[in-house]
Parts: sequence; C-alpha cells; structure tokens
Amino acid sequence: MKVRIQVILEDDEGHVLDSHDVFSFQRTHFQPGQVGLTLAEAKETLHGIQQTVVHHQVDDYLQKQRHCPACGQQRKRKGKHTLVYRTLFGSFQLPSPRFYRCRCQETEPRSCSPLAQVLAERTAPELLYLETKWAALIPYRATSELLMDVLPLDHAVSTAVLRGNVHKVAQRMEGELGEERFLFITPEDSEDPSLPDPGPPLTVGLDGGYVHSCEQPNRQEGWFEVIVGKSITPEGDAKCVAFVHKRDSKPKRRIFELLKSQGVHANQPVTFLSDGGETVRNLQLYLNPLAEHLLDWFHVSMKLTVMGQMNKGMQKIEARELIKDVEKQLASLKHHLWNGNITQALRLIDYLQLILRDDTMSLERKKLLKAVREFGGYIATNQQFIPDYGDRYRNDETITTSFVESAVNQVVSKRFVKAQQMRWSQRGAHLLLQIRTQVLNKELRSRFQHWYPRMADESEPELQLAA
Ligand SMILES: [Zn+2]
Repeated sequence: MKVRIQVILEDDEGHVLDSHDVFSFQRTHFQPGQVGLTLAEAKETLHGIQQTVVHHQVDDYLQKQRHCPACGQQRKRKGKHTLVYRTLFGSFQLPSPRFYRCRCQETEPRSCSPLAQVLAERTAPELLYLETKWAALIPYRATSELLMDVLPLDHAVSTAVLRGNVHKVAQRMEGELGEERFLFITPEDSEDPSLPDPGPPLTVGLDGGYVHSCEQPNRQEGWFEVIVGKSITPEGDAKCVAFVHKRDSKPKRRIFELLKSQGVHANQPVTFLSDGGETVRNLQLYLNPLAEHLLDWFHVSMKLTVMGQMNKGMQKIEARELIKDVEKQLASLKHHLWNGNITQALRLIDYLQLILRDDTMSLERKKLLKAVREFGGYIATNQQFIPDYGDRYRNDETITTSFVESAVNQVVSKRFVKAQQMRWSQRGAHLLLQIRTQVLNKELRSRFQHWYPRMADESEPELQLAA
C-alpha cells in the first residue's frame, strides 16, 4: 500500500487554490513498527505541511504588502533579503522584501520590511514555549536532544541558543514584576470592612539552598545561596517562588505576588516558617501586618539531635557522669523549647556551657561546647519567633517547614545541583529559577498566552516530578 499525503489550499468559498504532495510512504507487511506512521514519517509529514502552509501564508501576506496600505499605490521595491523563521515543525528561509515609503506617507521611515516587522521575533511562540519549559525541567543539552527527537528540526538547537531564549523569556517576566516596597499590605488595608471573612491562615515556608558557582575564584566561595519559598493554602494548593538573593532587588515583591496568586486577602492571616537565618528572617517581616513568624521546629530539633550525637561521641574520653548529665540537660532543653519556654531554655544552655567548660578539654568536647554556644545565640536571636510548639501541634497547626525542604529539592537540587559539574552564574541561575517556578506552578503557558493571545489554549498536563 502506498500512502500519499497532500495539502490542499482553498479560498474562503472553497475553491482550490493549490495542492501539494508533501510526503508519501509504503506499507508492505503488517508488523510491529509498521503500524501507522513512524516518528520519522510523522516528522517528514509535519515538516512538509508546515513548509507548504508557511510559504503560502508568506506569499499571500507579501502580495498584499506590495501596495501602500493607505492609498493602494504600488510600492517600489528596495532590494530583497531573506530571514529565517524557526517554527515547531522546521526552520524556513523566507523572502523578506524591503519597500520604499509611499509618497502619501511623509512621516514614515524611508523604507520598511513588512515581514521582518511582523516576525520581529524569529522563533515561533510555541517553539519558544517548549524550549523554555523543557530547559527549566532538564539540562540544556537534554532539552536540545529531546526537541530534536520529537520535532522535525533541521539541526539540534544549541545549548547557547536555549540558554539565550530562557534568559530572554525570564527577563521579560522580570520586566513585568512590579516595584519593590518596604510594606506591601498596610494595617489600614487589612481593616477594610468590605473584605470577606478572613479564612484560616495560609502557610509560607522559606528556606535556602546552595548552587555551585562558576564565578568564584576559589573553592570556599564556590557556592551561592538560593532562597525558595513555598506557600500552601488551607485547601492544600501549593505554589513556589525562588530567587538568588544576592542579586535580587525585589524579593519581597516576589513573595507578595506569590501570596496574591494564591488569593490571599489583605485581612487573611499568614504563617511564615523559616530556619531562622538572617536573610529569610528579614524578608518575611513587613509583608503582611497579620502575619505570624515562626522558627521552624524541624531546624531546632535537628540542631539538638546533632548536639546529642556529639555528646555520645565523647564517650571514651570524658567522664561518664558528664555525658549522662549533658544528655539529661539536652532532653530537658528540647522539652522546654517544644513548650516555648525560652527563659528556661536559655538558662539550660548557660548551664550546659558551664559544665562543659574545662581547662583540659578534648577536641570533641570543645566542638560540643562551641555548638552549644552557637545554639544559644540562635535561640536568643530568634526568641520572638519561638511559639509553644506543643500547643500548636495539639491544635493541628503547622510547626515545621519540612514541606519547604522538599520544595528546595524540587526547585533547586533537581535542576541545579544533581550533577556536580554543573556550575552557574548568579544571573543565569536566577533567571532559570523564574522559569522553573512558573513551570512548577503551572503558570508558564498562561503567561505565554498573555503575550501571544493567538497561541492555542491547551491545558498543561500534570507534571509528575518524582520526589
Ligand atoms: Zn500611499
């Protein structure tokens, strides 16, 4: 059997304008691999249809452009150029004539290239969308291979072009982000009587992750920090935000936009949970007058666990009684912190330092003493953010950002850290993060549709990123 694929072009009345054979193939045996179209045949077919349609569209458009749009006079040609337009189903060299300005258009430039103006961006929006989306999910090289595998492209798109496109799209999004402010919701806003009843609080966790830098001169400075935030509505809808803190001038605006996109009203309470690091602590303040700020219990208990292990590590060197006593005090310290009893907790930390300090200390004991001292500073600095965790726990209220730990992994680690050889510039990482969070929040396609309203509506499939 021979299969011939033909494109028939008709005018609005149904008269055939033109027909083109675009592709044909043979089927001799019915066997696996020969059922229907192969990928290669599908690619040839799509490419053939695209070529025919695009060239007809361009011819038609240029035909109309030969005459002045204002008076209908034929315009004089000022040379012929070509441009390359990249589409989902192939790149095409298109004729792009330049015309002299018509006499009736005194104020216009002396000449113009209509096609070059209409196709100012030389990549079709849908191709740009796919390139950007996949580059946010998998490495640039894999993106290039994936697109080459499934689309009838003449040659693989280079990683440099992919990176450039990602940056361009992200810059466009950055340009649409509103200005930074000190305070986003004022107390007056939150008291507006026309607001609906405030619902249960929205929970926002903020945490940091680290990315390998390509710009640092030595190993110690080889990493930079990425802040990831995840907000969860009482109904369980989650969205994330991420940025390279050192080069971002609008971190609060980003978090505000995240809350806004989650439908937060000015009078809705928000619970911020963080690891107590200075960067995130300052970020969350002043965002919302009805916000409560909590030190994440996960980070507190982790530090206690580490100190407990250090204590056990002294086993052979230090007196048994001391180790037992430290163990008892650490348990008591955890209990007091769990119940938000800071005065007692700080007193215990002082006591621990007292019993650990000695003139003839082992290295292990010195390390533990240092950890206890640092923990004291950590608790003292964050004391206003330490609630009665036990009470919150019994009331089913959030006490930990463990969900942000997984967000850091999902947003940062999977794309930026997995392969050790991956090195990032702060700018490159920041821009890619903007696309990646949009993809994970399922907002990238609607952003493209906002830019290119003719881009077809197609629901974004649920992304299954294994944890
Ligand atoms: Zn004219």
